[in-house]
Amino acid sequence: MPNAADIVVLGAGPAGLGAGLAAARAGARVAVVEAGPRVGGLCVTVERDGLRYDLGGHIPFVRDAARLEWLRGLLGGELVWVPRPVSSWRGGLRAGRYLDQRPDGGALGTPVRAPVDPPPPDSSAQQVLAGTFGAPFVERELRGYLEKIDGVPLARIPGPRPLRLMRDQAAPEGFWFPRLGIGQLMDAMAAAIAEAGGAVHTGTRVTAIDAAGGRVRGVCLDGPGAPERIDTARLVVSAAPGRAAALLRPGPPALTPLRMRAVCIVLLAIPGGPLTDQAWVQVDDPAVPAARIFEMGNWSPDMTPGGETLIGMECYCHPRDDDPVWGAADEALAARCAASLADPLGWLDDPSRARLVDVVRMPSGYPLPDLEQLAAAGEGARALMEVDGVALAPGAAVIEAVAAGEAAVAG
Ligand SMILES: Cc1cc2nc3c(=O)[nH]c(=O)nc-3n(C[C@H](O)[C@H](O)[C@H](O)COP(=O)(O)OP(=O)(O)OC[C@H]3O[C@@H](n4cnc5c(N)ncnc54)[C@H](O)[C@@H]3O)c2cc1C
Repeated sequence: MPNAADIVVLGAGPAGLGAGLAAARAGARVAVVEAGPRVGGLCVTVERDGLRYDLGGHIPFVRDAARLEWLRGLLGGELVWVPRPVSSWRGGLRAGRYLDQRPDGGALGTPVRAPVDPPPPDSSAQQVLAGTFGAPFVERELRGYLEKIDGVPLARIPGPRPLRLMRDQAAPEGFWFPRLGIGQLMDAMAAAIAEAGGAVHTGTRVTAIDAAGGRVRGVCLDGPGAPERIDTARLVVSAAPGRAAALLRPGPPALTPLRMRAVCIVLLAIPGGPLTDQAWVQVDDPAVPAARIFEMGNWSPDMTPGGETLIGMECYCHPRDDDPVWGAADEALAARCAASLADPLGWLDDPSRARLVDVVRMPSGYPLPDLEQLAAAGEGARALMEVDGVALAPGAAVIEAVAAGEAAVAG
């Protein structure tokens, strides 16, 4: 690994890989540094017992023809169309599941009033949704699901969040997906970086950011075979700013710790064909530990080649021992998930047919979307932005993160 680079990228999730690829293709000497053993961040595909699964359903929400071309350039024939709608919003009309229910019990596609201007960040989801759909509809259709996902009352969830989920993270007709899982896209990006002359170093952690004199001068590293330091005048930070800011030397003013929302992904295999015809199902029923359930074979049949169905249950929770999901032992949580597939979901006759494949625990799925920690959430980003040569690549979704990485390099 060379000890100088034009651009160093901290983290090799979709944002860091997007930044690294754009920089390498522009001819820069780029080093992408990833603490984990493989690239992808939250977007990795695991292979176990002949089954492949992602850590949560990961739809790459493609918004324009240029991005589709970009994906095709990386994946070619490995990019498959999944004709299963996950619809939240379509040209001012709604159709689909929880976030897309009919506002007045009318026919699917009933027009709803969409807010023209983005709501202020300090507005609450309660205010924004009630103003858009009316309070009775919010109570009937939206509150249960959103509070289950986010774990705080609707009055404390920031207003822009649900609108963003409804409009930007919708796939009304279906979606494009890598045949072998979202990790295949991440691996393809890493390969393309190398092909363009850049370097991706896994198993290597950035332990400090040298920002002497208010401008970035280099990063310190810890990893087998890595130099102690790479000199650089440009750093793209793709990891959570609150944590990355703590690496600044000299250090930033004390940062308020952020509370995080955790996710346990419970993977169950069931002999036989699919349980549903759905890729992703949103569930607000409190009797079901998961808020979203994905059936991997409906994303791509090549993920479950052996005649088994693989169900992934995304159980959102607080990372605390007293949380009924986080605090449960793996087997107990899996048994509750399997039981809920039988009752109340009715997809499975006998829960004992479900075999536990894996429980993946993510203590830091995303920062708790709570108006009460809005100010704290910006502290890390502000400290980093004050350093000349540092750019941030924030991304709350896969393709959005890639685009943020590209923008960070261009800016
Ligand atoms: C359950 C779940 C389901 C999701 N579903 C979808 C979906 O359907 N569609 C969608 O678009 N998005 C989805 N997302 C969101 C998506 O996963 C994220 O938006 C995306 O991964 C963000 O990418 P990132 O590169 O910003 O961060 P990350 O993926 O978190 O990557 C950051 C990387 O930085 C590395 N890092 C951190 N600190 C250091 C350090 N000091 N040194 C070196 N490396 C470091 C980490 O190891 C990590 O690999 C989902 C997320 C979850 C949790």
